Amino acid sequence: HHNLFSALRAAFPADLSSTAVETTAPDGTPLFYTWGDLDRASARMANLLASLKLPEGSRVAVQVEKSVEAMVLYLATLRAGYVFLPLNTAYQSAEIEYFIGNAEPGVVVCTPGNFGWVSKIAFNQGTGHVFTLGDDRTGSLLERAAHHSDVHQPVQKSADDLAAILYTSGTTGRSKGAMLTHGNLLSNAVTLKDYWGWTATGGPDGRGDVLIHALPIFHVHGLFVAIHGALINGSKMIWFAKFDPKAVLAAMPRATVFMGVPTLYVRLLAEAGLTKDAAKNMRLFIAGSAPLLIETFTEWQRRTGHTILERYGMSETIMLTSNPYAADKRHAGQSERRGATVGFPLPGVGLRVVDDANKPLPVGEIGNIQVQGPNVFKGYWRMPEKTKEEFTADGWFKTGDVGKVDERDYVSIVGRSKDLIISGGYNVYPAEIEGYINDMPGVAESALVGVPHPDFGEVGVAVVIAKPGASLNPDAIVAQLKSQLANFKIPKKCFVVPELPRNTMGKVQKNLLREQHKGLFA
Ligand code: ATP
Ligand code: MG
Repeated sequence: HHNLFSALRAAFPADLSSTAVETTAPDGTPLFYTWGDLDRASARMANLLASLKLPEGSRVAVQVEKSVEAMVLYLATLRAGYVFLPLNTAYQSAEIEYFIGNAEPGVVVCTPGNFGWVSKIAFNQGTGHVFTLGDDRTGSLLERAAHHSDVHQPVQKSADDLAAILYTSGTTGRSKGAMLTHGNLLSNAVTLKDYWGWTATGGPDGRGDVLIHALPIFHVHGLFVAIHGALINGSKMIWFAKFDPKAVLAAMPRATVFMGVPTLYVRLLAEAGLTKDAAKNMRLFIAGSAPLLIETFTEWQRRTGHTILERYGMSETIMLTSNPYAADKRHAGQSERRGATVGFPLPGVGLRVVDDANKPLPVGEIGNIQVQGPNVFKGYWRMPEKTKEEFTADGWFKTGDVGKVDERDYVSIVGRSKDLIISGGYNVYPAEIEGYINDMPGVAESALVGVPHPDFGEVGVAVVIAKPGASLNPDAIVAQLKSQLANFKIPKKCFVVPELPRNTMGKVQKNLLREQHKGLFA
């Protein structure tokens, strides 16, 4: 019996009347959910889903605001044996039409306010059932579930059965649906529980770790890493529907673990209240989803006394690497969390760096990152050709990320293969040049993208953001780089702009920058 829900349910504490989730209703009322509440509410929803008599493997597509009920819907979908398919709340009609058309869900759940247009798209595409779920416990999903029993036996699943389809963030192009199995998700959750030292005792109230959950739940980070992490340890969550730095700071004395994308750390650093004292009960700060600037890493250390643990993963594989939480026996007992690296491959994960012919490269050389392990997905939903392309003949998944492994086994990411610039036949790794620009006084951050050039094939264009109050001269930036780096690495043009284009996960959308500047030399 491999239903992921059963494994999570088995980790609930014996005392089901203790608090599992603490949150605030949209009107400001404090709300508490016990472990028993999560169990019974997910049973009711699972019974509702079961009553629809959907074919095996049916997708339940969900585009709702973050709420505890939305998480319960995820648990209920697992429990009922269907496939959870979360959608970014920012998506509008053209995107929803693509995703619903592509996934052909048996059930769609949307916000009450979007029911009009979402149901129209869903019914046109052949979806049988559309329910609504508001972030204030409104909507037809809960009303209908209320008529069902609060007892439900989880459906038998094998490790290889689909549990979720997660659409990638669409940073490099159109989102692809990554098919993840019960076995993928459970193996990763178990590995992380151990590797990050989750505890069932200790913590501020003697009941073990408490997680601050402030991430969206349509993405691997908030949905899998955070929710599974807490549930499989029987840990309470302090749950925020939206990230608010002041509210997160106020929760820290009652919590032990925080997970954030780099922008959340930057926003917390802007709060004067972020001090060693504010963070003194915290055990672990985890960052990922996009590169964490070394400056954020060191500033966090200075302000809080804590060293952020950076890890690396993706929709297709969940988590792949992590800086050590404690001494890692597999790597000579090293326990140092190193900024600008993503740490070691997790136990059970194989990671190699190869050239374009899939030949492994020596230590320290930059190349394509390939991985394998029980966490690696089954393939892209309805894209058998794409799936085939992204696996090597001997079963390694091509992550699309470029990086290296150093002599101490630490992995670092230097960019994505799609962002690699080939200028006059030389490889230019954007992260290297960005690192030099970011070190210049007055620079907050930067992005280097390749654009077509008649002589060199491609050349780099640097887009730079100034720190508040600083004024930057683009020509001076280029001049300084010339004194530091080989000529083929020097951007042919530099722009200072107010901000970089980012998607909802805080990732820089280099495809948009390339598009914007593609005519510069053409
Ligand atoms: P798409 O595949 O649609 O272009 P995406 O790759 O951004 O979008 P996700 O699966 O959400 O979609 O993100 C995974 C990617 O995020 C990784 O391949 C990697 O490039 C990046 N990433 C994740 N964690 C880190 C990290 N710690 N440092 C650098 N990059 C990271
Ligand atoms: Mg990707």
